[in-house]
Amino acid sequence: MTRDALHAFIDRMPKAEIHVHLEGSVRPRTVLELAAKNGVPAPAPDEAALQKFFTFSDFDHFIDCYIAVCTTLRQPEDFARIVREIGEDAAAQNIRYMELHFNPATNVRKRGLDFHEMLAGMNEGRREARDRFGVEMRWIADGVRDEGAAHRSVARTVDWITDLSPEDGVIALGLGGSEVGFPPDLFVEEFARVRDAGLHVVAHAGETTGPETIWNSIRLLHAERIGHGIRAIDDPALVAYLAETGIPLEVCPVSNVCTRVVDSLPDHPFPALDAAGVMVTVNSDDPPLFNTTLTNEFRVLADVWDYDADGIERIAANGLRAAFIPPAEKDAMLAAFAVECAALRQEVGLPAREIG
Ligand SMILES: [Zn+2]
Repeated sequence: MTRDALHAFIDRMPKAEIHVHLEGSVRPRTVLELAAKNGVPAPAPDEAALQKFFTFSDFDHFIDCYIAVCTTLRQPEDFARIVREIGEDAAAQNIRYMELHFNPATNVRKRGLDFHEMLAGMNEGRREARDRFGVEMRWIADGVRDEGAAHRSVARTVDWITDLSPEDGVIALGLGGSEVGFPPDLFVEEFARVRDAGLHVVAHAGETTGPETIWNSIRLLHAERIGHGIRAIDDPALVAYLAETGIPLEVCPVSNVCTRVVDSLPDHPFPALDAAGVMVTVNSDDPPLFNTTLTNEFRVLADVWDYDADGIERIAANGLRAAFIPPAEKDAMLAAFAVECAALRQEVGLPAREIG
């Protein structure tokens, strides 16, 4: 098996992504154009300077970059545009299904947007992404745990999303922002309200803090998936628990290196978590901010961690298995992906998948 064949397979295989941030996926050129259109200061004068600004020193700098992008988003049509463009960029990687995190409290409260108008803009872009590029999208509304009145940010987000119809595409509540000093116990009531409304719940945990945050996100918030969750590796009992329950981790390898929560890709716990039987998925988090793509993340599996085509196809399928899609629809998608992968393997000169 040649490296080229494996890369061709990775580039063209059907993909699903379940941890990627709407506001962290805006094309750099679009950030500059929206800043000019909306008369707000651009984070940098040109694309090259913007890319330099997006070079990370640590997690706090990442948050600054993320907020700088949010500042340029002022009107519903801006959201329609960025969603449409994310759909176009996804189609180029053969991503067929995405669950996108977005941050209503930050966008609405700080920029004077109306939540429902913003969501209508997002859904206009979502329709275009589906119709023009064949990319299906769903929304995960993130509450911000560390914003001034943190409790209110999450509570407000819950108020908004528990009062929507399924056509609005919001399927879950998430919990974002800095983990340090804002443990899951603060948000028990809000997460219960969302679950009672029949929505899913997920939480970033174990990215910048340890296993305890993951445990409490599961025990107290009943999180169905964990964003990042890589610090689980520090607690063998937690690794065993995750493997036994099948609670998926939404792992974002390049992001973890950029924000310096791991030293390097060879040091990343992904292969160890996978080997221990944890349901790991691969995601790009904030692709332009981390100079990555979902395809690039899968190349890490091949080039850094020595995964073969079988392993890569298995992990890619995990992304769909962990998605919040009704079971019958999910089974049909998994079957279609498997057929497509089999044909693609033959086309690029890879052996057929070993069953079992
Ligand atoms: Zn994230």
